[in-house]
Amino acid sequence: MKSHYQVLIIGGGTAGIMVAAQLKRKEKNLSVGIIEPSPDHWYQAAYTLVGAGTYDYNKTRRDTASLIPQGVDWIRDYATSIDPDTHSVLTQNTGALQYDYLVVAPGLVMDYDAMPGLPEAMKTEVVCSNYNDPKKTWKVLQEFKGGNAVFTQPSTPIKCGGAPQKILYLADDYFRKSGVRSRTNMIYATPGTVIFGTKEFADTLMQVVNRKEIILKLFYNPVKIDSTNRIIYFEYKKDAAFLPEERIHETMGSDQLIQMPYDMLHLAPPQAAPEFIRQSVLAIPEGAGKGWVDVDPETLEHKRFPNVYALGDVASLPTAKTGAAAGKQAPVVVDHIIQSIIGKKSASTYNGYSSCPLVTGYGKMLLAEFKYGNVRDSDPLLSKFVDTTKEQWSMWLLKKYALPYLYWNQMMKGKM
Ligand SMILES: Cc1cc2nc3c(=O)[nH]c(=O)nc-3n(C[C@H](O)[C@H](O)[C@H](O)COP(=O)(O)OP(=O)(O)OC[C@H]3O[C@@H](n4cnc5c(N)ncnc54)[C@H](O)[C@@H]3O)c2cc1C
Repeated sequence: MKSHYQVLIIGGGTAGIMVAAQLKRKEKNLSVGIIEPSPDHWYQAAYTLVGAGTYDYNKTRRDTASLIPQGVDWIRDYATSIDPDTHSVLTQNTGALQYDYLVVAPGLVMDYDAMPGLPEAMKTEVVCSNYNDPKKTWKVLQEFKGGNAVFTQPSTPIKCGGAPQKILYLADDYFRKSGVRSRTNMIYATPGTVIFGTKEFADTLMQVVNRKEIILKLFYNPVKIDSTNRIIYFEYKKDAAFLPEERIHETMGSDQLIQMPYDMLHLAPPQAAPEFIRQSVLAIPEGAGKGWVDVDPETLEHKRFPNVYALGDVASLPTAKTGAAAGKQAPVVVDHIIQSIIGKKSASTYNGYSSCPLVTGYGKMLLAEFKYGNVRDSDPLLSKFVDTTKEQWSMWLLKKYALPYLYWNQMMKGKM
């Protein structure tokens, strides 16, 4: 273990491992260290399928040790603070580490306390989230006997913004198989103004919503939960009179919050950058993007500290936070660092690419690929063979079999 690295990476998740592996493939003599506390590495993209009982949870985990690229030092510790002026990172047990270049990739955290009643609700038998325990989601779906099945999205940025919808569609499919769908109100409540940001995919998703008779509640921002009485409260964000829907027994309270009873509830909890990032000078201090790392959207270089880069969920980028996005960000960060070491300027840029494999039922998926501005950015080769704006069996196979294979064998090895 060294006290100084040419490149020091905080976080050995999806983004951190990809950067380390690609750096080592390009420059095997670089000294690279990864600060990562967890002995486990998770392929989170499969949590959606685990929650619907169609993927083995144990297959989403591998030992972190097996993924640290050869020649890279694994510092099994937490980063606790960053001092970009002295190029150093403080850790919980290892002390201070110096760097020439810093790559910040510690992901994000669930911010349970941001919603009163959420921590208590998560402990009950009818509330679940693929974001923290997809195995419980599957249990909740199997035990559901009918009534209001409510699926929500928070107003904070979240990882994989499509995930709350995917489990909604799979649950609908499962309830049809288990026989409870006819006595169920499937409700999707989101603060969003549309079902999906990119029109080509939104059009298909609206057809799915209508076909499945899902009760879509736009402009619904979840703010608190009363788990004793099984009620979730929403702020109504629309500038219009509220008309309660009787069949789901929603009402408007004197506090101007919509009260919606639930018999099962799937949440994406509010999410935030890790505390040590929010407290650091690397974070945006105020306004939009507050707390996330302040990087240039194209170069991923920190706006004030040029030898610091951030990518993955922690970066403040106006696109969806996904592993697929990190996959396109990693080569940009790697090229900038390698060029900078030899005194050159990299021309490599990130266009905001992200992708969301929108599973719409067992055996059905559309592949939403887009870039900054929510502009469709579908892979041209794939698009020659498949219309990815439509539900496809082939895309389901991609999600269930091909993508996990590519993740472990290509992305984690720095080969793509
Ligand atoms: C339910 C669900 C469904 C998803 N579906 C998809 C999908 O279909 N497609 C897709 O592309 N993406 C999907 N994602 C999102 C994807 O998993 C993330 O966007 C991706 O993992 C982000 O990579 P990251 O490296 O930024 O964060 P992570 O992979 O979460 O890694 C962060 C790492 O940093 C470490 N860390 C945290 N704090 C510290 C610290 N203080 N010091 C050092 N290390 C620290 C953590 O232990 C962790 O290993 C999904 C996620 C979820 C939860």
